[in-house]
Amino acid sequence: MARIDVQDFSEEELEYYSRQIVLQEIGLAGQKRLNEAKVCVVGLGGLGSPISIQLASMGVGHLRIVDRDVVETSNLQRQHLYGMDVIGYPKVEAAANRLRKLNPHIEVEPVPLSLSPKNVERIIGGVDVVVDGLDMMTPRYLLNRACVKLGVPFVFGAVITHIGNVSTIIPGETACLECFQGDVDDDELPTCAIVGVHPSIISVIASIQVSETVRLITGKTPNLANTLLYCDLGDLSFERIKLAKAESCPVCGSAPRSKPSPIEHQPVQEICGREGRRVFVFSPDDELDMDLTALNSRLEKLGYELLVKARLGSTFVKDPVKGSVLKSGVTILEGVDAKEKAQEIYEQLFEP
Ligand SMILES: [Zn+2]
Repeated sequence: MARIDVQDFSEEELEYYSRQIVLQEIGLAGQKRLNEAKVCVVGLGGLGSPISIQLASMGVGHLRIVDRDVVETSNLQRQHLYGMDVIGYPKVEAAANRLRKLNPHIEVEPVPLSLSPKNVERIIGGVDVVVDGLDMMTPRYLLNRACVKLGVPFVFGAVITHIGNVSTIIPGETACLECFQGDVDDDELPTCAIVGVHPSIISVIASIQVSETVRLITGKTPNLANTLLYCDLGDLSFERIKLAKAESCPVCGSAPRSKPSPIEHQPVQEICGREGRRVFVFSPDDELDMDLTALNSRLEKLGYELLVKARLGSTFVKDPVKGSVLKSGVTILEGVDAKEKAQEIYEQLFEP
């Protein structure tokens, strides 16, 4: 390996990263690897916030951040990437602005998309590690399968109430997500909006995910390969559960017991309600590149008040309906009683 010296860094970078360059496990060589790394963080909510803040400030050279949501007041208790000033902004846009200010030495690539079977491989293409900041199992399965197929390490993390799970998946070497947690149905899982989540457990799990990601990038053996760490801040218990690659796993096994259960693109999805209001998310089959100026004038003509006109999306209201459209065409509508009504409003927004 070529010798790495201080000349690979600007003076400002050396000062910026000085407290981690002195760490034995990072050093100048590790810092250079971090600077050259490409990491994709999928989901910029509770977990994705501290994950992306830490990876950006540690100098991961290229951070691809993926999310389909907009910032809401109920996010701020735990999603510290955002403040009151960006309510209604696409999370990827607010996050990219914040992360670029935090560390101007890195590149941040915002991707305002919903994961789908069609786009998942493109979304994670070319990265060294994928980090899970999601809050549902179905998109995690999509990520897991794409990571197994493309051979990209995947750092899984999940939290609810004061409990969290974290594990590092290395395709071909360790158990994949569906070896140990397959066929979990999102409809049967409790959601943060219903049972709540403590910011402390999020910080713990996110930090462990970052530590594992940094170990992968700097060439150290991850601590959670073939291990699921179960953390409960209720009684401060940490339990390491051994995992093994299942040869019968439908996704990564050498003798799969069945085909992987199909995951279909969901053009309309009802998600975890906000303050008891129904919320529908529309994801176009193919990613669009919306002309938001044209959309904004259309919204005004339809009588909507525009709350946010951002670069990657708009948020608008006409009581009782509140909505957001992202540049990719992903649309969130809330305050509508029925799916049919939501569909009608959505079509009206996109009429030629
Ligand atoms: Zn597997």
